[in-house]
Amino acid sequence: MLYVSTRNDKEQVTASQAILKGLAEDGGLFVPEEIPALQVPMEKLAGMTYQETAYEVMKLFLTDFTEEELKQCIAKAYDGKFDTEEIAPLKKVRDTYFLELFHGATIAFKDMALSILPHLMITAARKNQVKNDIVILTATSGDTGKAALAGFAGVEGTKIIVFYPKDGVSPIQQKQMVTQQEDNTFVVGICGNFDQAQTGVKQMFSDKELEKEMEEAGYQFSSANSINIGRLVPQIVYYVYAYARMVQSGEIQAGERINVTVPTGNFGNILAAFYAKNMGLPIGKLICASNENKVLYDFFATGAYDRNREFVLTSSPSMDILISSNLERLIYRIAGNDPEKNRGLMKSLQEKGRYEITEEMRSQLLEFYGNYASEKETSSMIRETYRESGYILDTHTAVAAAVYQKYREETNDKTKTVLASTASPYKFTRSVMTAIDGKYDSKADFELVDELAVLSGVKVPRAIEEIRTAPVRHKTVCEVDEMQRVVREFLQM
Ligand SMILES: *Cc1c(COP(=O)(O)O)cnc(C)c1O
Repeated sequence: MLYVSTRNDKEQVTASQAILKGLAEDGGLFVPEEIPALQVPMEKLAGMTYQETAYEVMKLFLTDFTEEELKQCIAKAYDGKFDTEEIAPLKKVRDTYFLELFHGATIAFKDMALSILPHLMITAARKNQVKNDIVILTATSGDTGKAALAGFAGVEGTKIIVFYPKDGVSPIQQKQMVTQQEDNTFVVGICGNFDQAQTGVKQMFSDKELEKEMEEAGYQFSSANSINIGRLVPQIVYYVYAYARMVQSGEIQAGERINVTVPTGNFGNILAAFYAKNMGLPIGKLICASNENKVLYDFFATGAYDRNREFVLTSSPSMDILISSNLERLIYRIAGNDPEKNRGLMKSLQEKGRYEITEEMRSQLLEFYGNYASEKETSSMIRETYRESGYILDTHTAVAAAVYQKYREETNDKTKTVLASTASPYKFTRSVMTAIDGKYDSKADFELVDELAVLSGVKVPRAIEEIRTAPVRHKTVCEVDEMQRVVREFLQM
């Protein structure tokens, strides 16, 4: 299996090279030349553990990894860092199947991929005779930074440096990052916003002088960005696993269709569901849920992608995105795998902030349904679900549940539906608790944590318990124009 860029199908690379590079030289995203079909019969998958399922799915995409290498990566990723052996449990609440993707180290779905990416990356480095240590450089607005830190912490042959806006993340998010353990982790608050952090990181990635000095010191940069296929492929696994669990428990017959609903930001998670469908998993509709930053809803409704609009700060911040990077992989696909056509559209996006697809391309999107939930609809969904079932949704999952409800009302489609639950309510305690009752807003963050435990009957996760008392290990703060100096200091060069 080889990978090509969505902007140029002449450059072919292996899976391990695609993982090391992240982005193609031409700015495109790596895609597999074709989507492989699932080989194991469903009856067999139904009896498999998460780790076994992961191997059966990932081996079809990462064909230059040996069985032993892949199994080792999987074993190191999906272990006791997760608070349940099921790794991704499926909970039936009323008539929806919530696929809980938040049982990892940082209690959000990014852990599903970021706990295995570091292992895939060092295996890929070995395979390609890379002698340097890999230095992961990341700018974060909160969630990705912590999940990447947790994934790379203590992984030999890697270092990770995370920049976050000092005054731009929640107190719990900040505490999660600055208490990160292990000597190969570095966390820096910058006196600036997320965009400035991001720009600073991009400048370092493209600085040839810095690259040369790094090489001499035995280092090279890499990225843990969500467009890396090393993050996309592990996300296909849990859709196959969820389906197999439903067959196993008799909820569905093997071969019966299900729908999937996904709270969407960068379009990575739902694209993984689309790939699972293309592998032969019986999925009907792919329901794409947005918050008030509803670029994707408008895109599915009109065929025009337009980022020229106001950026809204919502209670589901991990979905506050106006450019869904992974959508490019779907565009490439519905353009008939034509890099030329895709390049034209992406150029238009870069220059004008918008593009429009043809009717022919639109006709291939019928399996997608897009809608969005307002802030009010989101908090009502949290409150109603709690009142009717006692189950407490996080804000991102609630956006998806509200959109699924709209879909049901519009279509009357009663197909059994798996809903990707992307964060624990403990990660967004304040929004969740005030949605249930406004009286909670006056309380302090950790008081709310204890109240949430009482209401939900769900034990406070280790990720939250730890940071109550954990010592601050990372105190570096710098100006925007000092980011490179800080990196040199950390790497002692
Ligand atoms: C990142 C994230 C999303 C969005 O996922 P994409 O793959 O970017 O579409 C949704 N919910 C949570 C909690 C996230 O952290």
